[in-house]
Amino acid sequence: MSSADEAVGRRGRASSAPDVSGRFGLRLAVWYASLFIASSFAIVLLTYWLTASSLAQRDHEIIQAKLGEYATVYARGGLRALTATVQAEQRTSRERVFVRVLDRGAEAVLLSNAEGWDPATLEVGTVTLLDGSIIQVGKSTEARSDILARFRATLGFVTLSIILIALTGGWIATQSAVLPIRRLSSAVRRIIETGRTDERVPAGSDDDAVGELTVLFNQMLDRIEGLVRGMRGALDNVSHDLRTPLTRLRGTAELALGAAPDPERYREALADCVEESDRVLVMLNTLMDISEAESGAMPLKREVVDLREVVARALDLYHDVADAKDVALQTGRQERALALADPVRLEQVAANLIDNAVKYTPAGGRVQVDVDRVGDRAVLRVQDNGIGIPGEELPRIWERLFRGDSSRTARGLGLGLSFVKAIVEAHGGTVDVASTPGSGATFTVSLPAAQEPAALTQM
Ligand code: ADP
Repeated sequence: MSSADEAVGRRGRASSAPDVSGRFGLRLAVWYASLFIASSFAIVLLTYWLTASSLAQRDHEIIQAKLGEYATVYARGGLRALTATVQAEQRTSRERVFVRVLDRGAEAVLLSNAEGWDPATLEVGTVTLLDGSIIQVGKSTEARSDILARFRATLGFVTLSIILIALTGGWIATQSAVLPIRRLSSAVRRIIETGRTDERVPAGSDDDAVGELTVLFNQMLDRIEGLVRGMRGALDNVSHDLRTPLTRLRGTAELALGAAPDPERYREALADCVEESDRVLVMLNTLMDISEAESGAMPLKREVVDLREVVARALDLYHDVADAKDVALQTGRQERALALADPVRLEQVAANLIDNAVKYTPAGGRVQVDVDRVGDRAVLRVQDNGIGIPGEELPRIWERLFRGDSSRTARGLGLGLSFVKAIVEAHGGTVDVASTPGSGATFTVSLPAAQEPAALTQM
């Protein structure tokens, strides 16, 4: 499958992706509405039960009060007094009760409202008196049932309204909750479809989880865009820098082929070609090393190394060059400073910094290399009194293939400092520069200091 086909395939999948946020919104609405309805139901049922039982309780209390009252009247004035009291009450009282008195032989001697005495629709209370007679007071449950029936109808209506409100409210609430997620996913979909990373999701409030996710997502896009721009820039630079040696290589070969056959000329042309090819190879290898170190894929054979030894080996390589250029290459402070590092890579770091210092220091100048232990850091410093670096170039010197304006005449690929930075950072260290144009530059590498090896401390 070609990459174009893959892109089309990916695009197809992205645009036909199911509306996940829609389904999520529906689920959320259903959950919300079910919870709301269930809790409303519980409240309605509880209210109904409390009302029904308090009405029953009220009837019970009325009956008990009447029984007590009638028992007292009967005890004081007998059946006649009770009959008079009941008749008087039946005329005046709004609360209609039924009264029946049974004598010892269970014969009804008093019955108020004989036509309405139906134990099926009455709640009846009974008290037995000292002479064996029984007073019964009944109260109709019809009024209570009426009230409860009306209450049930009202509750039914309220419940129906609650269900409607729950469904609409749930839908509206979840729609507004899902909206930022929708915006986020449609932005992602657009980016997948168009491949444009300059798209941004409109930020809502950032004080909730989705708002925070949106801000983070936009930041991630900023970062990706920066990386892609950097990669494009580096690729442009690489192609540009490769073109020059390749053109030279081709030109040399073409010239030799065009001229009259001459073994000596051929030999020289081939030697030039080999030199140019080496230059290209060094450039590509260094670029690969930088990428490996930056991505953490570079294998580092770490061991405890003394920076003084690393510096001594690197200095050996440059004494002749410095002498030839009449630059004094010397060591200054040389403290014991150990670091857990790959000695070969660290030597390349020191060599690159010394190479630059010698290269950018005119005849009569001086380059000094110090090794120091500062707190828990092992420090390597390369100082020169050469041409220095202009302020506006300082932030760019670490970029791949960047070469300062005044350095164009010197040999170099513009990769030395990017390499130094990548390797030092792969070791968990930092590299800084301080420079005054015209007075020189100081590069400082700081690495986490390693503990003294046990064998050495015991000695
Ligand atoms: P190169 O030396 O191959 O040009 P580098 O990556 O090593 O590439 O350095 C990048 C730029 O930083 C150089 O082109 C130069 O302008 C500047 N530079 C580095 N070291 C020094 C130094 N010691 N003094 C002055 N300029 C320096």
